[in-house]
Amino acid sequence: MEARDLPGHLRPVPDSGDSTAPALEPTDLPVEEITAPLEEAERPVEDPARPVEETPAAPGEEPAASVPAPETAGEGPEPTPLVPGTTPGLTAPRSRARSTGFVTDVLVELGFASEERAQQAIEEARTAGRPPEHLLLEQGAISAEQLSKAVAERYGLDHVDLQLFQVDMAAANLISVSSARRYGALPVAFVDKATLLVATADPTNLLALDDIKMATGFDSNVAVTSTEDIEALIGRLNTLQSAVSEAITEDEEAAAEEEAALAEVSDMEVSAEDAPVVKLVYSILGQSVAEGASDVHFEPDEGEMRVRFRVDGVLREAAKVPKRMVTAVVSRIKIMSDLNIAEKRVPQDGRVSVTIDDRRVDLRVTTLPTQRGEGATIRILDKENAQRSLDDLGMDGSGKRRFEEAFRKAYGAVLVTGPTGSGKSTTLYAALQSLNEVDKNIITIEDPVEYRLEGINQINVNRKAGLDFATGLRSILRADPDIVMVGEVRDGETARIAIEAALTGHMMLTTLHTNDAPGAIARLTKMGIEAFLTASAVDCVVAQRLARKLCTHCKQRAILPPEALAEAGIRVGVEIEAYVPTGCPRCTSTGYRGRVGIYSVMQMTERLKEMTVQGAHEAELTSVAREEGMATLREDGVEKVRAGLTSLEEVLRVTA
Ligand SMILES: [Zn+2]
Repeated sequence: MEARDLPGHLRPVPDSGDSTAPALEPTDLPVEEITAPLEEAERPVEDPARPVEETPAAPGEEPAASVPAPETAGEGPEPTPLVPGTTPGLTAPRSRARSTGFVTDVLVELGFASEERAQQAIEEARTAGRPPEHLLLEQGAISAEQLSKAVAERYGLDHVDLQLFQVDMAAANLISVSSARRYGALPVAFVDKATLLVATADPTNLLALDDIKMATGFDSNVAVTSTEDIEALIGRLNTLQSAVSEAITEDEEAAAEEEAALAEVSDMEVSAEDAPVVKLVYSILGQSVAEGASDVHFEPDEGEMRVRFRVDGVLREAAKVPKRMVTAVVSRIKIMSDLNIAEKRVPQDGRVSVTIDDRRVDLRVTTLPTQRGEGATIRILDKENAQRSLDDLGMDGSGKRRFEEAFRKAYGAVLVTGPTGSGKSTTLYAALQSLNEVDKNIITIEDPVEYRLEGINQINVNRKAGLDFATGLRSILRADPDIVMVGEVRDGETARIAIEAALTGHMMLTTLHTNDAPGAIARLTKMGIEAFLTASAVDCVVAQRLARKLCTHCKQRAILPPEALAEAGIRVGVEIEAYVPTGCPRCTSTGYRGRVGIYSVMQMTERLKEMTVQGAHEAELTSVAREEGMATLREDGVEKVRAGLTSLEEVLRVTA
């Protein structure tokens, strides 16, 4: 990829497009010893006239340079190496060799200050007792960002923009907030198993860097950042560590109870009660909620533990927990969610409510014994999510009208289809909320109940106790419900009970795993439901996907040419105005924040019902449904692109 094609935040520092720095060469301390890195000399000589593009390792490819790649033998997620120029916020210097000049010279060289202005500051500095670059900063002649870039160049170090760089909380928690304040430095990532990336505004403070080495037991590579950024980050770390503080008091009782069990766990190098472990777990949870994550995965991997967040449906690595803290972190999670910490061989499930930033958040914790050790997954259940209306979800216009008309009938079946994680339950919850009135008896059977809804009887599937969807649904029907929601129809038996219930005076709401709305009819037939039963029971089928919403802070206007749309199978013949993602600190550089539903709503008209009875093929149903006004997922998606809610690429991704 050409540097100029990169979004702004991924571009190298101004004027450093001709960077000859190899992509994977972190700098080494102490800076005094750096004249020219060894690797520099060993690399083949390249045509100096031709700018050398940074060549990050292709996905799956072993990084070639001096960073030992964390071993991920076999399965497991790919590691995310830190690559200046590719890793958001991290930029390599133009040369790894330390320049011999003054910082003011570099400021002039980079075009941040004029020669005259620099001279003036140098003169003032003689009597001011402060370095000239600090005077330039105070006088507003340069920005803190520019100064930090110049310092990075001066010492041949990477520059890190902490507003874009995704800080690894496990690294940051290795030193205390008070030490970080004292040093003006903080570890922000792991370069490899033995090395930290330490961000500081002052790379010449070797004492502080030595202290960090001593305190953490890790070597450190240094990246330069601005004073403002490092202070803001230390403040944020402090906030995150205390964000979940109310949970600590709740936990103390449980912790005391578990103390005996704790003593039995012999291989625990760091205790689950140690302040750094507690702070680490809370800062990870705090960060995940702040980023709007739906799940946090703690995945054991070769002794270490990888922490990944699922944000808007996409996983990203958030932290790497060092080996010696892994057991303690898992124990901490178990204690927090009231699980048996001595039991490591079988999966356990727990629930806990915590307060994060004044918000009550329910966490569903699952521990998983894997071959690489015990891991855990935390699902973050945000109640606000279950209380969103159809409008909030993004269903509008005729689709919404058809869907509402169907589920407001006295009886019948309404199906919502889509793959796992496409927001089907949220749509059904929205329907239930709008149906939730005192004169209606609403019962649900779910696997598991995700959100507790007031005034609705919700039952959890419990297979161990012999309660599955089919048996649960049978008992529900004896309890005289008006409206029944079945989490999912997966088998013929459940399908039959549901369809028959829909024909005997109940409104049945459920979900099916099919790609599109007409596909649901064929699926029911495959499950053994006679076509005439399907035709009489089913009133409406909704197919849906979730597309990531463009970040409102950084999305940029763009014109989409007809060709781009035609490629997407949409032939409008005109260009349309839309937005494209960019990336900013508020969306952790992804360009997206939150999600919006994309819907295709098929109303089962008389004509479609008749065709179903006659055993019409899926394609025929689709074409008639479209004639009768059904928008396809892609068409609804393009409407949302036009409305500026999401991007064309995102619609193509989720409707592929
Ligand atoms: Zn943004």
